[in-house]
Amino acid sequence: MADNPCPSCGKTMEQGFLVAENFVEGARWTKVKTRFGTGGDKLVPPDALGNQYIPGFRCTGCKLLLLFY
Ligand SMILES: [Zn+2]
Repeated sequence: MADNPCPSCGKTMEQGFLVAENFVEGARWTKVKTRFGTGGDKLVPPDALGNQYIPGFRCTGCKLLLLFY
């Protein structure tokens, strides 16, 4: 059994961070698209330099991201 197996293909996922810049509202999750991309739930607070690091895993085979916020 692989460490951190991909839920789709079962191969080992790479551990890392999704990085977002928090110039206006930053990375948010939304269930619907809006015209100007506003709204949604903020996921993580920005650091002192205005970057958001969302920890998680990726599968390069499936192009799947698995994130923890
Ligand atoms: Zn996969």
